[in-house]
Amino acid sequence: MASSACGAVEIFERTAEYRAWRDATMRDGASVGFVPTMGALHEGHLSLVDASLKENDYTVVSIFVNPAQFAPHEDLSNYPRTLPGDLAQLAARQDAARLAPGRLVALVPSARDMYPHGFTQHVDRQVGAFVEVKGLSHQMEGQTRPTFFRGVATVVTKLFNVVLPDRAYFGQKDIQQAIILRRLVDDLLFRYPLGSRNVRVLATSRDPADNVALSSRNAYLDARGRAAAPLLNQALRAGKATWEALLADGSVPPAERVQRTLDAARGTVSVGAAALASEASKGPAAAVELDYFSLNDPTTLEVLTDTTSTHGAVLSGALYVRNDARDEKPATRIIDNELLGFQLD
Ligand code: AMP
Repeated sequence: MASSACGAVEIFERTAEYRAWRDATMRDGASVGFVPTMGALHEGHLSLVDASLKENDYTVVSIFVNPAQFAPHEDLSNYPRTLPGDLAQLAARQDAARLAPGRLVALVPSARDMYPHGFTQHVDRQVGAFVEVKGLSHQMEGQTRPTFFRGVATVVTKLFNVVLPDRAYFGQKDIQQAIILRRLVDDLLFRYPLGSRNVRVLATSRDPADNVALSSRNAYLDARGRAAAPLLNQALRAGKATWEALLADGSVPPAERVQRTLDAARGTVSVGAAALASEASKGPAAAVELDYFSLNDPTTLEVLTDTTSTHGAVLSGALYVRNDARDEKPATRIIDNELLGFQLD
């Protein structure tokens, strides 16, 4: 079995070698938790690793920048790739968790291993097997990124087939992704992980100073852009406060509650964007532009037009942040969400 190591972390670069290792763990009856990532690891990823280490004999962290979830105009070539640092962070985590029973394993497959017949980002020219989760993938993130969840569902299916995890760990930051993947394992009768209850969804890790959701793409932000980024979560929390206040009031019709919640979030961004624009008229300043805010049913992800739903709502959004208002370069797109009236189990 050919593998290498970084500290106490065993590293597999070939899926065939990983499979041989997994066969051995099965014979031993050892459990495997799985944390799929695209690397550029941060505390958000590591919180998933910690949760898995506690629950499983082994935790497999995959690091693979999946081309299928990037549209041709998106940032595949620039996406941060920091493999040596990622492996060192995992090794440090393994050391820190040495009293916990779980052992860490890294799976770093090549694109050739994951897409054995080659791959194009142009969906209309793709040939072969791809996975779509209908009805849950076109709204919210899917409106701006129509082929994104097809790419995610496809690569996660492949990774589940290779890794054969007992449990898998995802972040609430990408809530639509998590809901789609739970549906995927139920609908396609996955054996590993067995059923959506073994697809764990954990709270979003944030910068404690300003509540910004940790994200690998935050690396694109300089100090000015980073200072503008808290606006997204501020707006979501303004929407959540409005929702809760109107619900407590009880006299506001559901459809109006939906509208006023979205208005509160959008209004917060408008005020912040205007303040930045005024700064930019005097000198260098960041700029922001709203992509969307959306209120959706937590299970079906249907867009809410009224609040007849009794099990709460997901308020999600995306914001474009430009480090310098005069920049020609593509803006950084950040995403976040708040749960209204329900918790993820
Ligand atoms: P990515 O590398 O961006 O594909 O993310 C890999 C996993 O880490 C996904 O399940 C994400 O939802 C999760 N993740 C990313 N950012 C965070 C965060 N700030 N808090 C918790 N989980 C996160």
